[in-house]
Parts: sequence; C-alpha cells; structure tokens
Amino acid sequence: MAKFIGAKTLIELRDLKKNYLLGDVEVPVLKGISMTIHEGTLLALMGPSGGGKSTLMNILGFLDTLSGGQYLLDGKDVSTLSANARADLRNERIGFVFQNFNLLARTSALKNVMMPLEYSKHRGSQKEMRAWAEHLLERVGLKERMDHHPSQMSGGQQQRVAIARALINRPKILFADEPTGNLDSKTSEEVLHMFQELNEKEGITIVLVTHSPEVGAFAKEAYHIKDGLVVDGTY
Ligand code: ADP
Ligand code: MG
Repeated sequence: MAKFIGAKTLIELRDLKKNYLLGDVEVPVLKGISMTIHEGTLLALMGPSGGGKSTLMNILGFLDTLSGGQYLLDGKDVSTLSANARADLRNERIGFVFQNFNLLARTSALKNVMMPLEYSKHRGSQKEMRAWAEHLLERVGLKERMDHHPSQMSGGQQQRVAIARALINRPKILFADEPTGNLDSKTSEEVLHMFQELNEKEGITIVLVTHSPEVGAFAKEAYHIKDGLVVDGTY
C-alpha cells in the first residue's frame, strides 16, 4: 500500500507499551509500538483479533493510559497527562466511532448527536448547538430521521448517527474501531465512503481499526499489528 507522504506529523509513538494486570500478574499487551501518524491521513490499523489494535486505539484516543514509552501529539509529550487533561484533549480534538454504535437506543438521533456537547467547554447557545447537530445529521443523509430513535433504525443508519455524533465537537482526529463490523457489505461500503469524504474534503485525520483487508483497502496507508508489535506487510 502506498505511503502517505508530505504531511506534518500529528502523532508519534516511541516504543509504546501497555500491560494489563490480571490478578497480580502483569500481562504485556503492547510490547513496544513505534509509529508516525501524519496529519490528514486515513490510516488503517490492521491485524488479527487479539493483537492489540483496540488497546492501541484507546490509548491514542485518551480512553486509556500507557504503561511505558512515549506518545507525542503535535510534538508535545502527552504520555503522562492527568485524567482531566486527557478528558479535555479527548473532548476538544477527538471523535470516536465504535462497532456497536454506542447510541442511546430510546433517545432521538438529534439528542444522541448533541450529547457530547454537554461535556464541551465551548458550548454555543441551545439554538446554535441544535442547528449544528441538524447540519451534521443532514450531512450523513439522515435529515428526515432526526427524531427517530436508534432502536427504529437500521445498522447503517445507526452508524451514520454515530458518525454525526463523533463530528459534533469538530474533531481533528477520528478513531473508528471496526466501524463496519456489524454492517452488511453494501452498507459497509457506504460508511467507508463517508469516512473517505470526511478525510478528503474536511481534512480530518482518520484512524480506522480493522481486521479486514477489504476495509483496510479504503485507507491511504496501514500499520499491521500482531501480538502487540508492528509487523511488516500483510499478516
Ligand atoms: P484487538 O483489538 O486487536 O482484537 P485488543 O486490543 O482488544 O485486540 O486485545 C489485545 C489483548 O489484550 C487480548 O489478549 C485481550 O485479551 C487483552 N486485553 C484487552 N483489554 C484488556 C483488559 N481490559 N484487561 C486485560 N486484558 C485485556
Ligand atoms: Mg479490537
């Protein structure tokens, strides 16, 4: 796969390690990951199940902390930030999309999309926030369904609501963990095209976690992760 060249470095990982405590035994899950993520890329994190992709994505997205090594974001060391500082960065810079959508089933699409604004420091008026959420839902093709509940929607529609929600705080980076894992192949393709469009038209950096080579083919570049390490080529 062609490398994405010429852009500035957004994220740099140096020998990143993560151990989980199982009982009183430390189990290494990420064993020294070094990688560069360029601004504006659409990067696939690929590799077999259990290899550490989700663990890595959670650390990159400040949902989890690292056990060793360094994480640089925009040239700043963010390896050892406080929980509050991590939450601020997460809210201001990052959007997430998950395999199981993570929506509130009995709350309207519009309210689901507006939910992250509750935690934002840069809230507008209720009217402005609503207009922005409506714009995003229109953008993902759900103008007519803003008042529907996720429980009344197809998987593809639910994932589009989740994408609109991920965009509400105008993130620079979008992390998507197996975002098409619960979708049929036609719907998957629509969702992947939507990521490509966000990447190309809005310049949002996207990290797509997947074990599927078909999904990985939508990316500009890929890292393959196996047994907690970056490996070359395909697996
Ligand atoms: P992938 O996303 O590539 O399938 P994961 O990052 O989910 O891989 O998991 C990597 C390894 O870490 C697996 O062996 C998994 O069992 C282990 N693991 C993940 N999360 C935890 C946790 N919270 N506690 C203990 N072990 C975990
Ligand atoms: Mg995973």
